[in-house]
Amino acid sequence: MKLLVTGGAGFIGSHFVRHIIKTYPDYHVTNLDKLTYAGNLDNLSDVADHPQYRFFQGDIADAKLVDELTGETDVIVNFAAETHVDRSIDDSSPFLTTNVIGTQVLLEAARKHRHPRYIQVSTDEVYGDIEEGFFTEQSPIKPSSPYSASKAAADMLCLAYHRTYDVPVLISRCSNNYGSNQYPEKLIPFFVKKLLNDEKVPVYGDGSNIRDWLHVIDHCCAIDLILHKGRVGEVYNIGTNEEHTNLEVTKKMLEILNLPEDRIEFVTDRLGHDLRYAIDSSKIQNELGWKPSVPFEEGFRETINWYKNH
Ligand code: NAD
Repeated sequence: MKLLVTGGAGFIGSHFVRHIIKTYPDYHVTNLDKLTYAGNLDNLSDVADHPQYRFFQGDIADAKLVDELTGETDVIVNFAAETHVDRSIDDSSPFLTTNVIGTQVLLEAARKHRHPRYIQVSTDEVYGDIEEGFFTEQSPIKPSSPYSASKAAADMLCLAYHRTYDVPVLISRCSNNYGSNQYPEKLIPFFVKKLLNDEKVPVYGDGSNIRDWLHVIDHCCAIDLILHKGRVGEVYNIGTNEEHTNLEVTKKMLEILNLPEDRIEFVTDRLGHDLRYAIDSSKIQNELGWKPSVPFEEGFRETINWYKNH
């Protein structure tokens, strides 16, 4: 299989590229990444010269380039996106260009070249927040931020391309990923960086917002299963039920780094901040046999130590 992985220089995409190269010695990966502030080729330095891998710097909204690369490959796995909610609140334009128009360009190319599969990596944030219970794949789409609205729009386009043109799309919606190689604007690497610089960490509101934490390697294994065994036209939730408040996560981080709790500073809450994300992942577990393998305690400790050493 020849994969066109977009956004492969980012956090999750880089782990996925490495996972594919290590797992499938006869597969080839073309990584198309614009190298925005969030893209980092160091994330893939160990496979940069691998014979199964090649890199193109470019934009998923560049129809000519995408057309060329799609013609040379069999499957698109789209990780490329603007991903930081706070940035989307400051300026949503790049989110619409990349997350919506970029997805449309990829879908057009997949349609033209009759790819047998198109994988859209989406997010549980498209469902909005939920106080109790869990969102299933049938739950209504009700995004809260410009980021999640742009991801929801992309999901809708994917499903429309499936219905209208029979483009064989599959969508994954995962919870908060953690692991190495994440740009230090997201909670875990941002806080570790601040703590190592002897600064306080800014926790939004009272820190009671709840997130479900998914190790990036478990996420990559789920995408692998969706790629090979998923049913075309379907959406798959990927979560762990490892729910923790942001305050709990921060306190655990302080404990691992052996620092006192007075390093926490509560700051004005994010606009429209989602209270709790929680998804039901029984579909991917029952249909495709996926289950998370990294216990949060273990993966979190390892992740904190990785950032400490990098
Ligand atoms: P990231 O911000 O770390 O990486 C995004 C990558 O996309 C970067 O390498 C960037 O250079 C590239 N990119 C951005 N715009 C591009 C464009 N126009 N053309 C080509 N490349 C472009 O993101 P991530 O955390 O690895 O997320 C990957 C995907 O997973 C995203 O679609 C995101 O919405 C989704 N997701 C992430 C999480 C999470 O916890 N990180 C949770 C749910 C869903």
